[in-house]
Amino acid sequence: MATDVKKLIIIGSGPSGYTAALYAARANLSPVVYAGYQHGGQLTLTTDVENFPGFPEGIQGPELMSNMRAQAERFGAELRDRDVTAVDFSQRPFRVTTHVKPFSAEDDEIEQAYAVIVATGASAMWLGIPGEEQYRGYGVSSCATCDGFFFRNKRMVVVGGGDVALEEAIFLSRFASELTVVHRRDTLRASKAMQQRALNNPKIRFMWDTVVEEALGEKHPQTGAARVTGVRVRNVKTGEESVLPTDALFVAIGHRPNTHIFHGQIPLDERGYAVAQDAEGTATAVEGVFVAGDVRDYRYRQAVTAAADGCKAAMDVEKWLEERGEADVDPTGEVYAGLMHEPATEPAVEPATELAIKIGASQA
Ligand code: NAP
Repeated sequence: MATDVKKLIIIGSGPSGYTAALYAARANLSPVVYAGYQHGGQLTLTTDVENFPGFPEGIQGPELMSNMRAQAERFGAELRDRDVTAVDFSQRPFRVTTHVKPFSAEDDEIEQAYAVIVATGASAMWLGIPGEEQYRGYGVSSCATCDGFFFRNKRMVVVGGGDVALEEAIFLSRFASELTVVHRRDTLRASKAMQQRALNNPKIRFMWDTVVEEALGEKHPQTGAARVTGVRVRNVKTGEESVLPTDALFVAIGHRPNTHIFHGQIPLDERGYAVAQDAEGTATAVEGVFVAGDVRDYRYRQAVTAAADGCKAAMDVEKWLEERGEADVDPTGEVYAGLMHEPATEPAVEPATELAIKIGASQA
């Protein structure tokens, strides 16, 4: 077991984990980040990202994540590309266990920390059909907000009958030339209000009792880029199969929060999402454990909202540690000073903890 106690361990390496690492490193918390064997989160599975501010020409998802990682490392965050296999938040300091060797408990490492940020994200559920993985990022997507814009005036298919599927269909109906919701039953799971909106939308067509069995595609004749051309569907009542031409397939059959190692450690809701004590903040009911990003947010699920949450979590940790005398952080007040926009004539910068509170209050 490691003998020294870390101030902060961050578990997860999506936009929330890396942003938390960046802020925490700049606040002298020397965070250790368990990034996972497959680090970088959901954005590593996408291609173009056009809605992350600061990149007017867009940026590739993997490049954005490696930039975030490099930025956190530049300020001293220690990245460990290993999966966390267990946590123990019942004793202090907290204990975090990782496999040093993939898939083997041999040489497990236990690291201790005063504070932990859980930023393990959520994973989109996929259909598991042929073509789905092959065309992911080239027409197959799990995020209408992220990718709908790429298919302006094109045909689209949304799979699912829940609130998210209908919300995405309504959103996509603004761009689509044709839009079909394919649902495996003849009744929707979504709320009545959402159903009404979708059923009354003249752009949205429903294909009931139908499952998508394959995503079809080809290489673009001119550019050579992969693209979706259709989906093979089957009516589950009649068994009839057909091909539905489409340029994009949006899979909206739910997300699964990556919280299996946190059962019994922090509060989770009935769907398994981590629960913060209040909607604005990132602290959980377990003092010293904070949550950020998609692991606690099933509503917005955007890279930029996850990143913002990571920032909040790092600031909450910094304040929490400082109040307990666990860390001599930001002694000069430089880290958060830039956020104050105070006139140069103002007296000395306030302590970082007060700044954090003030910033939060001004945004409420
Ligand atoms: P969800 O409510 O679990 O719905 C998932 C949908 O996908 C269901 O219609 C399900 O079909 C279908 N599905 C699941 N696996 C499938 C498969 N392998 N093949 C084909 N279809 C499959 O998930 P969600 O829509 O992501 O919503 C998650 C939660 O967020 C829900 O509680 C939802 O109410 C909430 N939410 C609320 C709002 C709002 O109120 N504005 C907005 C967004 C989300 P079946 O119906 O046959 O099971």
